[in-house]
Amino acid sequence: MKRRDFLTTSALGLGAFGLSGCYREENKISDKNIHIKKGRVVKLKLATSWPAHFPIMGTGVDNFAKRCKELSGGTLNIKVYPKNILVPALQVFDSTSLGQIDAFHSGVYYWKGKNSAFSIFGGMPLGLTSEEMITWMKFGGGLDLWRELYGKFNLYPLIGGTTGPQMGGWFKKPINSLTDLKGLKMRIPGLGGEVMKKLGVNPVLLPAGEIFTSLERGTIDATEWVGPALDSMMGFDKAADYYYTGWHEPGSILEITFNKKRWEQLSDEHRAIITAASEEMTGNMLQEFRYKNAKALQELPKNVQIKTFPKEIMDAAKAALSEVLELESKKSKDFKQVLESYNNFTTLNKKWDDISTKNFLNIRS
Ligand code: CA
Repeated sequence: MKRRDFLTTSALGLGAFGLSGCYREENKISDKNIHIKKGRVVKLKLATSWPAHFPIMGTGVDNFAKRCKELSGGTLNIKVYPKNILVPALQVFDSTSLGQIDAFHSGVYYWKGKNSAFSIFGGMPLGLTSEEMITWMKFGGGLDLWRELYGKFNLYPLIGGTTGPQMGGWFKKPINSLTDLKGLKMRIPGLGGEVMKKLGVNPVLLPAGEIFTSLERGTIDATEWVGPALDSMMGFDKAADYYYTGWHEPGSILEITFNKKRWEQLSDEHRAIITAASEEMTGNMLQEFRYKNAKALQELPKNVQIKTFPKEIMDAAKAALSEVLELESKKSKDFKQVLESYNNFTTLNKKWDDISTKNFLNIRS
């Protein structure tokens, strides 16, 4: 998908929302606890925060729905609605919670306003990689905590893909010291944005469709997005020359989340199929990001310089992150509890990772 097509799709999405109006009352999920009989066709509505067929994330969820249908012999029919068709992109959480739609596909970090602890499930700056995050969630207690906290919103989450390590972003000028960050306007969300704020950056939030123009016109000085595959599609290489390696999103987690009551109404078979398809989707997405990022990196135009932030900045980012985490832990017992679980796994994982993956990659390089 070219940048123009992507932006047109986004615009169409917004227009279509205007046409479809609101989700009607008759579509609301019945409160009756109807267990689905074996063999009966179940139709579910899943809304996403992405434009239609958005590369990797959007096509990933399209394929998830296709696999659910195939694996169930056609008895599980999940219809995927791109952003703003049924509900606005960032209202999928509330709409699913209320039972206006059955499920959604989105990024966990969007919901930190609901509970700051959710930002940890979305991924941690300078923290765990995608594979490590998934390991913590599945085997280190993260998933149980996530489900417990989402349960309070009548939601049941599954891991719905992951991006792998993200790049640090596009800058119009090189960043050689902390002084160069002072007053810089950068599009960077989540905990990474809060860390950057402590380093003097002015983090801004912009809808996807406005980032390129803002960077090109100099309304913002920098932006992060994902990695070479999706960033070049957005055209950032035409608006900025300095492309920094990543630190703030080493393993962002996406989610397939169901209305909890709806989830409990599904048959054991359908729940098992959805779980298996979400695991398949997560593996596929990580591999697809790796392949397409590697390929897109090779194809970046010559004006683009790959840079790494100086040690002074990364040291300051580490110190700022500690302050942010300490403050959030003081403010929220949920955040504190999730962070403790996350930190326990990080400590456990580090010793093994140091002598296995890290050591091996050093030898191999
Ligand atoms: Ca990002």
